[in-house]
Amino acid sequence: MTTPPVVERHLFGPGPSNPYAEATAALGLPLLGHLDPEFLRIMDETCADLRTVWGTANPRTLPLSATGSAGMEAAFVNTVRPGDVAVVAVNGLFGERMCEVAGRAGAEVVRVDHEWGRPIDPDRVAAAHPSPTVIAAVHAETSTGVRSDIAALGRLKGDALLLTDAVTSIGGIELRADDWGIDVGYAGTQKCLGVAPGLAPFTISDHAFARRVPRPQSWYLDLGLLGGYVGGGAGGRTYHHTAPVAMVVSLHAGLRRILSEGLEAVWARHAEAGRLLQDGLQELGLELFAEEGYRLPELTTVKVPDGVDSAAVRAELLHRYDLEIGAGAGAYAGSVWRIGLMGRNARPDAALLVLAALRDVLHR
Ligand SMILES: *Cc1c(COP(=O)(O)O)cnc(C)c1O
Repeated sequence: MTTPPVVERHLFGPGPSNPYAEATAALGLPLLGHLDPEFLRIMDETCADLRTVWGTANPRTLPLSATGSAGMEAAFVNTVRPGDVAVVAVNGLFGERMCEVAGRAGAEVVRVDHEWGRPIDPDRVAAAHPSPTVIAAVHAETSTGVRSDIAALGRLKGDALLLTDAVTSIGGIELRADDWGIDVGYAGTQKCLGVAPGLAPFTISDHAFARRVPRPQSWYLDLGLLGGYVGGGAGGRTYHHTAPVAMVVSLHAGLRRILSEGLEAVWARHAEAGRLLQDGLQELGLELFAEEGYRLPELTTVKVPDGVDSAAVRAELLHRYDLEIGAGAGAYAGSVWRIGLMGRNARPDAALLVLAALRDVLHR
């Protein structure tokens, strides 16, 4: 028998000091059947807790059984018919991907481009078309580290449905789906929620549900059928697909942990860690990429200094400090670093470790 390699790095960290350890530990619990009453109770609680982190009362709030990208697919295939106009705000990679997904769903895509590193301009997005079916925007652009004002877009959306990507904002920064006028929202588990990747927390308002595409091209992501999956359908709970039981139990544990700490306390913890990191990077003489005032605390983008080999620095951080930072996205792959302080890593000591390691590796 071969022994698996021992890796000291853990995305969410081992041990009792890890406030998000419950979610990881839950993956190792004995499996419940997907129709076991205990599992159904856990599913109900998970949907209720998701309403809290989304800031919504939408009855149709559930974890889709696939990653955040499937949430994006579900948002578009259920709201746009071929020929419908989708106005998409683009200020990074995930906005670009929205255009691709909307186009494949048959929408006439009106793309409103912004410079990467800047927030979206709600006035310009709202003025892009007189009567779009949907307006879509990314709340927290993970490719650039920028937060956009979704509430402002919600006030300007008119009759359009507002679709929002909250993959990197949920559980990390303020998110109030109902107050902000979000009609359809999707998220992911592996960013600030601190749970393994694999589910897409999803919410759709009654108003958007009533206007949905009756028979979308995707059977699996048809929200009209998924009501029964979580027990919210007209016919009660019906079989749609087998719930990924371990993942849902893990998400449940992760959400319980966040809500026991307190959602606003969790936001404040992310804010503090991000501020420490961003102040410290500037004290080291590094330049931040995202526009001031719109910087995400959970995802910091910083320019690679002239003459520095981006990949070599990342490799050294990984091997000497067990510390993984990301390369830039798209055109900024070699010129920007992306540093995540999400979930369990949104702590002052993690921010200070990044700063000390970078100071060492960059000889500053
Ligand atoms: C990570 C991410 C996604 C995609 O989520 P997956 O779980 O990788 O499919 C979509 N949008 C944003 C903003 C993201 O950060």
